[in-house]
Amino acid sequence: MKKVLSCIQPTGNMHFGNYFGAVKNYVDLQKDYNCVYGVVDYHAMTAPYNPVKLRQNTWEMIFNLLAVGVKAENLFIQSLIPEHAELGWIFNCYCSYGQLTRMTQFKDKSSTTGKSDDGFISAGLLGYPVLQAADILIYKADFVPVGKDQEQHLELTRNIAERFNKQVGKDYFVLPETLYTETPKVLSTADPSKKMSKSAGDKHYISVFEKEEVIRKKIKSAVTDAGDTPEGEMSAGVNNLFTILKASGKIEAHNALMEDFNNNALKYVDLKNAVADGLMTLTDKFNAKKSEIISDKKNIKNQIKASSNEIRKRAQETVKEVKDLAGLINIKF
Ligand code: AMP
Repeated sequence: MKKVLSCIQPTGNMHFGNYFGAVKNYVDLQKDYNCVYGVVDYHAMTAPYNPVKLRQNTWEMIFNLLAVGVKAENLFIQSLIPEHAELGWIFNCYCSYGQLTRMTQFKDKSSTTGKSDDGFISAGLLGYPVLQAADILIYKADFVPVGKDQEQHLELTRNIAERFNKQVGKDYFVLPETLYTETPKVLSTADPSKKMSKSAGDKHYISVFEKEEVIRKKIKSAVTDAGDTPEGEMSAGVNNLFTILKASGKIEAHNALMEDFNNNALKYVDLKNAVADGLMTLTDKFNAKKSEIISDKKNIKNQIKASSNEIRKRAQETVKEVKDLAGLINIKF
């Protein structure tokens, strides 16, 4: 069975960009692949953060993933598997400083969310794509379901794997491939020139557990046309609303409204109502499941500790083999 790995940072909420872009695939792939999914708390330390909140957010993300349909036995918490950091160190020596400074996410984050008020930028922010390569390669993943924003990091992962294979003279690591959903880039409804994201601020994302009035308000105020769309073409904002509508499963409504658009008869209010209804169908389902999970927190936490321990065995096996290949001393105490 082919192997799948993906990870998500525990930065508070899960939004529809995460869900339609990646997490929906996490859920669907579980039927046909050997899947493991990590909540990557080491990654969340690379930007300024609050330690108490980090721990809370890590569990919150676990509950969120379970609520949308990820199975407990496929989930792990990154810091419970310290071999990720160990392999990350080894990979630091298979990746150049220049490659890391060229990463667009580093360039973005080092001037925004990755920089603290006193101007501090952690070396972790520069190095985190290397840790990400370790997250992926430690499970010898064939496929990595991610959003489009991760393309460059996946390329770096393949690069590190190739360099390692070449150095040790063996095709040890498989080169993982990205798996995109039909919606690899969901845009902010408030500013369709940006991707939907938590870091851009409250109006730039919609949580998958959001209250109805907030969803309706955010969709009602979605930007439809910034005034720069040529006659007869679809603006980025309207296109994004259609994309969200289709991703939410409302295919009939999507097709009928698309016909209206093609006939120059589309009313934005109809499109917005349909999108809000589509999102509500999902949030209703996810919120019901999340309430169940929250009422059984203790048991769920124990399940995740056990699944992390089980998944760790695969990571330990890889690190043992890598240490042998890389010329490190390998003794089991
Ligand atoms: P993060 O919250 O950055 O850990 O992202 C978790 C996953 O969601 C990654 O696979 C991202 O590529 C994906 N993702 C985040 N934002 C978006 C977006 N606006 N559209 C599509 N995918 C996204």
